[in-house]
Amino acid sequence: MSQIREIKCPHCGEWTLWNGDIDDRCLYCDGFLEPKRFSREVEKKIRKEVIKENDYFFIKPEDSEFTRTLKTFLNNLRWLAYYLQIVFFVFITLILLLLSLLPG
Ligand SMILES: [Zn+2]
Repeated sequence: MSQIREIKCPHCGEWTLWNGDIDDRCLYCDGFLEPKRFSREVEKKIRKEVIKENDYFFIKPEDSEFTRTLKTFLNNLRWLAYYLQIVFFVFITLILLLLSLLPG
């Protein structure tokens, strides 16, 4: 599928070479020659990343200071909620145990 064709760049309108790759760029303006297809590939990749990261707020090195703080906060909140659930569950279990131990 590496057939070199001459196509009109969707960004600057110049005629440039395209060999069918999704990341081919215009020789003149450096724009992607198939932005729709390219963005779809990126979208697919991002979706895969999201699945891989589960639903945790993964902190990336390129995140800004604010995003990092926010993500760290949300992560901590998640863990807090998780631990609270466990504590609640243990508490209820203990209550039920105590009730069953009571005579009557
Ligand atoms: Zn161009």
